[in-house]
Amino acid sequence: KVRVRFAPSPTGPLHIGGVRTALFNYLFAKKNGGDFVLRIEDTDQNRLVKGAEEYIIEALNWCGIPFDEGPGKEGDFGPYRQSERKQLYKSYALELVEKDKAYYAFDTPEVLDQHRKDHESKGKTFIYNWHNRLKLTNSLSLSNEEVKDKIAAGEDYVIRFKSPENKELLLNDIIRGEIKIDTNTLDDKVLFKSDGMPTYHLANIVDDHLMQISHVIRGEEWLPSLALHSLLYEAFGWDAPEFAHLPLIMKPVGKGKLSKRDGEKGGFPIFPITWNQSEGYREAGFFPEAVVNFLALLGWNPGTEQEIFSLKELVDTFTLERVNKSGARFDPEKNNWYNQQWLQIKSDEELAKMFEAELDKKGVSADSVYIKQVVSSIKERANFVKDFWGLSDYFFQPPTSFNEKAVKKQWKEGTPEIMQEVATVLESIQDFKSPIIEEKVKAWIAEKELSFGKVMPPLRLVIVGDMKGPHLFDIMALIGKKESVNRIKSAIA
Ligand code: GLU
Repeated sequence: KVRVRFAPSPTGPLHIGGVRTALFNYLFAKKNGGDFVLRIEDTDQNRLVKGAEEYIIEALNWCGIPFDEGPGKEGDFGPYRQSERKQLYKSYALELVEKDKAYYAFDTPEVLDQHRKDHESKGKTFIYNWHNRLKLTNSLSLSNEEVKDKIAAGEDYVIRFKSPENKELLLNDIIRGEIKIDTNTLDDKVLFKSDGMPTYHLANIVDDHLMQISHVIRGEEWLPSLALHSLLYEAFGWDAPEFAHLPLIMKPVGKGKLSKRDGEKGGFPIFPITWNQSEGYREAGFFPEAVVNFLALLGWNPGTEQEIFSLKELVDTFTLERVNKSGARFDPEKNNWYNQQWLQIKSDEELAKMFEAELDKKGVSADSVYIKQVVSSIKERANFVKDFWGLSDYFFQPPTSFNEKAVKKQWKEGTPEIMQEVATVLESIQDFKSPIIEEKVKAWIAEKELSFGKVMPPLRLVIVGDMKGPHLFDIMALIGKKESVNRIKSAIA
């Protein structure tokens, strides 16, 4: 059975890369009828941030990609917080020591630092591995008695993995294919510390095994750990899951990876909106559908021209084989476009409800049928619901100001008289509907041998306050005869 996990460390808000990892795990699980597990990797207690776990859960729910098992949704493999599994890891570390796959080491940070410096001064990098092992203070260089004494005396120790010497590893990644690694480049990573805490590597492998994870889908920054992780599975005698490392997300411009820190100032928004703002996508007015859509295309391609995908369509079409190897450029402009597209897909009812809530906050009240009509006439110009007010304020109140440039250009000698006559024409219309108003006004223009340019631009200015907006006859029909006439009259008064 397919079982995948998203395993964040609760050290702050999720960044874009994290949410994308969660999404790809979710899509893969759902495509294959599998389970999506949330595991909180909180073994490093110093880096914990209060509220981060709740934030992560809220973010997944907001995106519409809830987990099947995790904190608060206990399944058969809990607990799902590593801090609550603490007592479990030590025996695994000891098992590896027993099997001669790991060993105790007692080097102080100062001694290790000195080794590093000595190597550097000779232009070399210090690697704690088979080559240097015997020069250091560990159970491979000490007698059994000495080791026991040190532990009994309460000396700080770590348990290190014993990386093999002179082996070529053939690793496999679903996205990247075969990867060759020379074990001589690996160091003996710390697995366990005398404070009773496992490191990320040990806890991660043990939990993936115990939770029966079938596929590990994670960011490319973890690719360098793949060799160690494969070796750990081998050392335990466990079957390893399959691995897929997702491509890096690159800055919108220039070179380099999108930086997590750039977006992490401030509180806990639903993940930072761009690489240098702390405002979140939710706060900025994005629809979850749009966020899921653009995240899915950050590194995955459907193999067709299709760009707009619902979550369900993504589940149906997603495969790891179509995830790209190369970095995916993060494009905030394009993200706005996705939201604009999703805004057009939403029903007028739904949009009107959201807009009504915004109007309420402004103290503007209007009939909901009216709001819906307004939304329908302006929505194609909007990227976000928050753009609605700026595009439609004149539907709810007479213009509070008039675009000066437009006034200069459109308001000429004779214009007030023409407007006065338009008002009279409008007043005479019984059935105040857009096509009828249009017909009457046009007939009057023809009869008077006036030009369209003399009438329509100043009329728009008077009704809207600017040269913007949808079809003017539609606007007048919506605001009504009385309001249209009033606006003209107060403009020429
Ligand atoms: N806790 C790691 C992280 O914060 C998990 C990496 C993995 O998926 O193996 O990303």
